Amino acid sequence: MSVSHKFSYRVNFVKPSPIRTLVSKISAISATRKVISFAAGEPDPNVIPRDLYSTILGKVLHEETKSCNYSPTEGLPSLRRSIADFMWRYEGVKTSEDNVLVTVGGSQAIDLLGKLFIDPGDHVILENPSYVNTIVDWEFYGARLVGVGVDGEGVDTHGLEAVVKRLLSEGRKVKLVYTIPTGHNPAGIVMSEERRKHLVEIASRYDLLVVEDAAYNHLVYEGSYKPLSHYDKEGRVVYVGSFSKVLGTGLRIGWLSAPSEIVEVVKAIKGPSDMCAPVPMQLLVDRVLREGLYDQIKRRAVQEYARKRDTMMSALDEYVQGAAYNRPRGGMFILLKLPARVDSEVFADMLLEKYGVAVVPAKPFYLDDSGRSSIRLNFTMVEMDEIEEGIKKLGLLVRELS
Ligand code: PMP
Repeated sequence: MSVSHKFSYRVNFVKPSPIRTLVSKISAISATRKVISFAAGEPDPNVIPRDLYSTILGKVLHEETKSCNYSPTEGLPSLRRSIADFMWRYEGVKTSEDNVLVTVGGSQAIDLLGKLFIDPGDHVILENPSYVNTIVDWEFYGARLVGVGVDGEGVDTHGLEAVVKRLLSEGRKVKLVYTIPTGHNPAGIVMSEERRKHLVEIASRYDLLVVEDAAYNHLVYEGSYKPLSHYDKEGRVVYVGSFSKVLGTGLRIGWLSAPSEIVEVVKAIKGPSDMCAPVPMQLLVDRVLREGLYDQIKRRAVQEYARKRDTMMSALDEYVQGAAYNRPRGGMFILLKLPARVDSEVFADMLLEKYGVAVVPAKPFYLDDSGRSSIRLNFTMVEMDEIEEGIKKLGLLVRELS
């Protein structure tokens, strides 16, 4: 019996997740042979201080009578306060406990914002390329996504302004602008300060709401940057934060910081779907922040990932000819543009099957065909001593196909 005729109309907007298909392929092949994976988007498990977490979790479960009960939907008051302090201390953003809402990772915050703002047919502007899960999630709500190109300084803000003008002159509604200013996934770019300010100015001039995805804000290897929210004096930037990339993706603690008007409605939408984010994990993150442990965890991660990035850059320089790539100042990724005639999905399949090296074809991150020859390489989760070997094999395949 099939029930698909009973699915909601929204299911028409659902596309199969290209990443999920790839992950199943990688795990099937890993069962029979060694795979070097550049396909992740996660921290190195050896950098995550699990023993420290275990001690803290033991304590909170013992001490906090309600650690295994629901918390308020918007998060534990104490964690919301800690996050508001964190936003000031690390981001130079003044917010308050009441404007912070704890979510199940940044992913849930992105989904809830889509649910709140997007009606089918609404236009949303984002970088091209952009984070594939936001693309898939917001298309599910019926968004029409309009991409704006990026260069080494981040999104082309003049191009973005031109797109806004065109859409508004055609009478379209631009509901949101979505950006990943720091450690862009998949482009690896950190937006310059000038562009950050310009983007906030444009938002103000055309009455736009910006969603700033700050997932990689604390993995910066060179320079230091303030988030867009720091420059926003009008409440036009919604900050989506995540502890995933520094403290661990499996903790599933993220948040959004937004004007009360938004927080109140998001709270009402969120409650019926999850009641609250997992309480032991909220307590764990709260203690990590309160006991001043975040700094050392972050410092170690940044040190380790900067070394891995440098190792990958040197290997690329040595073994890969005929491809273009960036040197990321933040985040977890290098975007590699293969020779134009190479299809990145075919390349990724061949690389996995022939050489046991996994990469992510970047095509699904693009809103047009311009990414058909690009692949995304992750340098944080792969073992240090496998980087050179993996890149060498990648270089061999590039040569074979050139
Ligand atoms: N935004 C971006 C750009 C990401 O790369 C990710 C993780 N891949 C997320 C948000 C969400 O991460 P999480 O839900 O674990 O916070």
